[in-house]
Amino acid sequence: MAVEPLWKPRVKPEHAAYRTVDGNIRIGSVVFGIGAEIKDPDGWLWTLTSGADGSRTVDALVRHVLSGHPQLRPAHVRDALDQLADAGFLENAAAGRPPTLSPREAERYSRGVPLLRWMDLSPRASAWEAQARLKEATVLLIGLGGVGGVAAQALVASGVGHLHCVDSDVVALSNLNRQVLYRESDLGAGKVPAALAHLRALNSDVTVTGAETRVSSADELAHLLADPPAGAPYDALLLCADQPPDIRRWANAVCRARGVPWVDGGYRGPLITAGVYSPGRGACWECLRAGEFDRRDLRLAPGQDESPASPRMPWNPVNAVTAGVAGSLMAHAALALLTGIPPTEPGFRFGLNLMALDDVTYSRFPPRADCPVCGTGAAG
Ligand SMILES: [Zn+2]
Repeated sequence: MAVEPLWKPRVKPEHAAYRTVDGNIRIGSVVFGIGAEIKDPDGWLWTLTSGADGSRTVDALVRHVLSGHPQLRPAHVRDALDQLADAGFLENAAAGRPPTLSPREAERYSRGVPLLRWMDLSPRASAWEAQARLKEATVLLIGLGGVGGVAAQALVASGVGHLHCVDSDVVALSNLNRQVLYRESDLGAGKVPAALAHLRALNSDVTVTGAETRVSSADELAHLLADPPAGAPYDALLLCADQPPDIRRWANAVCRARGVPWVDGGYRGPLITAGVYSPGRGACWECLRAGEFDRRDLRLAPGQDESPASPRMPWNPVNAVTAGVAGSLMAHAALALLTGIPPTEPGFRFGLNLMALDDVTYSRFPPRADCPVCGTGAAG
């Protein structure tokens, strides 16, 4: 990306550069995945990065560098500036807030936008652009239990434009050890009306709607996805329900057919994961599931029932931590899909294992040609 002449380039405050003892420049923070180290034997890159403080236009910044390093050509300096912008280290100090965001929203999101800026590796004039994009987004969330309630709270607090919530349950006492969206005063109430009241009270700048309905077939899920409440198509689905047992399979097929990115997530005891999928980009849920089965070695005989290896109980071993982390990971994945921050290539699962925090909980497999949903032989 060529930095526009009218920019006032500024190294993002969260990416502030410093010089190492070797004379190199470290920029982007010391967070792995963001920061970088740049060799600077002649010292002019330090003049450039330290001079990119938002006070100068591009021309003035180039003159500033050339005044201390007259051997350089202006094109060299501009090229370096473009590379810093391409890496996501620069913003335009002169960029205004998008007009779609009110002063009240600017104050509300004044801590989240710098986080977007920190994690943003794309050339972008201002992180407010991503916040404005989030405000344009419409999300369907299915399942307002412990996972879905936390995911809904995170999306509403973060400023998603419109969240439509679907569930058919009522709030029960045994829910309250992890479904932190609800209060004792909600016992016996429908989860949708209770959740809507709490979510609207959290952020009245977000549109929150809901439907008290149970998704009991792929067709019903397809109908929900095809019928957004405000007319604009859904930008993402968050599947926070694990019942009926085939609901993930339905979501995968339906989202594939409609081209809607989606996220699922949950827990198996202390193992907490979320999956990120987008039609046409990477493995679909079926591909990932098949890859995971191939990777695991359960030492079962061919055709042997797998259920003994993954016991299922009539009760649900879960607390506010496992459900809450799952919901937060899903919300993070949804925000990444909706804003592009951080850059995300769908087709993977990630999470953590509370019993082995150093266990890398991440799986990515290539799309499978024989996948019944996205493979080369798939229908439609
Ligand atoms: Zn597939």
